[in-house]
Amino acid sequence: MLDEKRLAILTDAAKYDVSCSSSGSTRSYKRGQIGNASFAGICHSFTQDGRCISLLKILLSNDCVYDCAYCMNRRSNSLPRATAAPEEICELVMAFYRRNYIEGLFLSSAIVKGPNHTMEMLFETVRKLRVDYKFNGYIHVKGIPSADKLLITRTGALADRMSFNIELPSEKSLKLLAPQKSKEAIIEPMKMLALDRYYLSPAKRRSDFLPAGQTTQMIIGASPESDAHILKLTEYMYRNYKLKRVYYSSYMPTNFNTTLLPTVAAPKLREHRLYQADWLLRFYGFTADEITDTDGNLAEEYDPKCAWALKNLHLFPVEVNSAPLSLLLRVPGIGVRSAFRIRSARKYAKLGFDDLKRMRVTLKRAKHFITCGGKFFGSENENEVKRLLIAAETDRYTQLSFLSGGDPAAESALTGEL
Ligand code: SF4
Repeated sequence: MLDEKRLAILTDAAKYDVSCSSSGSTRSYKRGQIGNASFAGICHSFTQDGRCISLLKILLSNDCVYDCAYCMNRRSNSLPRATAAPEEICELVMAFYRRNYIEGLFLSSAIVKGPNHTMEMLFETVRKLRVDYKFNGYIHVKGIPSADKLLITRTGALADRMSFNIELPSEKSLKLLAPQKSKEAIIEPMKMLALDRYYLSPAKRRSDFLPAGQTTQMIIGASPESDAHILKLTEYMYRNYKLKRVYYSSYMPTNFNTTLLPTVAAPKLREHRLYQADWLLRFYGFTADEITDTDGNLAEEYDPKCAWALKNLHLFPVEVNSAPLSLLLRVPGIGVRSAFRIRSARKYAKLGFDDLKRMRVTLKRAKHFITCGGKFFGSENENEVKRLLIAAETDRYTQLSFLSGGDPAAESALTGEL
């Protein structure tokens, strides 16, 4: 059994990985097995900063042979090391599951001995859980770049979700800060999983191969790439590797023995704006080029949807009773759910501002960009609109800060309503 000391080391070492939100699995309870990947509570709890908490999040080992400059677990860093055996992780998962502490597992690892050895340990843990312990709950397992492709695919055939971390937004930064990793080694398995089942024989293929798909994580602010660069890369990965989510992790300094890294943490606001922009890419029909300037960063003072609308004032105001859905989705303050509600409701009656309020449209922001039955209650002065949007943003975060106990950034990762 994993002793408390190693448990503390391995769970603490896992906290830097944020790509652990789960969704998409519909596999329900099966007679004779334990767990239920479709249970509504699974991984739907989030910490204040939007990170999910109902999985056991643990590393198999933090004893890394690599030396990525930005990482706590790098070989050259002096810190307590620990490694768990697959059996020990399985026992822990089952014990925690039975006590109702967790709904599933997020399992990652540092590189122990080499990529294949590490991937074998991860595979063996997942295999034991599924086959020996008949664990049917949610499993998200981290893939190890450069590991054998068959091993990766076999692990994928047992897990709900897999993720290979892109780590840094450019090949140049990767070479500089994580010289033992390569872009190809990270991208190749992502491509392979997007094509899925390629390395499994047809007889072994499962119709629900990685039902919750794959995700990745990028560290923001450890290297000089702009938000425009990051969002273009994100858009490319969503389009080409069928990713469910890209997670952004603000850089935190842990290595003061190098001049390659900033000595201060990246602002949380930057991560927050990237998550908002990410929602615009996935659900609102925006492209990365529309959201950012050629090579710039996202505006700090208001969300990227407001920033886009202010640059495109010639398209507004739009009449909510007749505007196409694609344009409603671009109105600040009208979220995806509200846009669909408006489209349904206006078939039966002409909508007024009170109806919009009931549909949870944020009129403080939306009123400058819409008419409702021909009426307009916003400001026509661009500077005044900017001032009011900034004030609305401040209000929103003051309220969220109160509700979320201090971290307004939680909202963007949770709802994506913009
Ligand atoms: S491979 Fe790099 S990022 Fe991963 S644990 Fe080792 S040092 Fe850290």
